[in-house]
Amino acid sequence: MKKDWSKLGIMGGTFNPIHHGHLIAAEFVRDEFKLDEILFVPSGKPPHKHAGEIASPEHRWMMALLAAGTNEYFSVSSLEIDRGGESYTRDTILELKEIYGGRGKGDFYFITGADAIAEISTWHKKENLPEIAKFIAVSRPGYKLDMDKIDPLFRRCTYLVEVPALAISSTEIRERIRRGRTIKYLVPEAVEKYIHKNKLYQEV
Ligand code: ATP
Ligand code: MG
Repeated sequence: MKKDWSKLGIMGGTFNPIHHGHLIAAEFVRDEFKLDEILFVPSGKPPHKHAGEIASPEHRWMMALLAAGTNEYFSVSSLEIDRGGESYTRDTILELKEIYGGRGKGDFYFITGADAIAEISTWHKKENLPEIAKFIAVSRPGYKLDMDKIDPLFRRCTYLVEVPALAISSTEIRERIRRGRTIKYLVPEAVEKYIHKNKLYQEV
């Protein structure tokens, strides 16, 4: 994390594994909004995924670190992993504000894909979220990016951004690995090597 910043991007996700869809979305948003930094925040273990399907938090964090390492504006936070279990995004944003900005200083931009933005309406204590962050919903192949899909509460603090369409998902990557198919160019080379070396996602 750089010392001086006024606009911080936060991208949450399972990152199981991180792939070029995540990276291109983050980089294009950074450029478009002139963000000083993007912080990737891998989640703790989401309870709805069963054990074989999800790599350990340490593996997911390490892959995010390998992927972020080639971009000077990217870094990775282990905040949710350290907390363990499932974290409320609201708590994560508030904690990051405490750590990095202090309340009221600097703007936080929470970046999600067109699929994930719809989930905001289900977030815990969502009412005061518009005061603590702005939201950026990026386009994603297969999902419609539309203000109508966004909770009315969030419309005034949400931006819609078109990013280059990469029809890549972690689910598809995991399936390909199970079937012994290539994942080259879907993920950064260092991540591909890490997955193979650690024999990740070979079994359900
Ligand atoms: P899974 O298939 O396991 O759900 P995923 O590819 O959706 O994995 P996540 O870790 O769930 O990846 O996503 C983290 C964030 O990145 C979400 O906000 C999601 O919408 C966004 N995202 C993921 N893939 C893309 C993509 N190809 N283009 C744009 N945004 C994406
Ligand atoms: Mg997803």
